[in-house]
Amino acid sequence: MTPEVAPPGTNRKQWARCRNKVNKGQVRCHQCAMALVQHADVDVRRMLVQEQGLAEDVLEVLLVDPDFLVSEYANTAMGSDFSATQEG
Ligand SMILES: [Zn+2]
Repeated sequence: MTPEVAPPGTNRKQWARCRNKVNKGQVRCHQCAMALVQHADVDVRRMLVQEQGLAEDVLEVLLVDPDFLVSEYANTAMGSDFSATQEG
């Protein structure tokens, strides 16, 4: 089965160009990331969760994603990026 949606940014017909400022080290702005975590296509969410530099609140949404792979990736990302701040 082919995903109905092209990866973000690759298809101008499906993805409006974003004019927001993107933080250094991040792939997209927070507004776009928060929109993508709600995406109905699981392939889009799997792609998003594997990106580097996702915001913590974005990962928190992905962490409870109904798709096992998405939540697993989010869990791993949380563990590596935020373990220092979660100790204690
Ligand atoms: Zn954006």
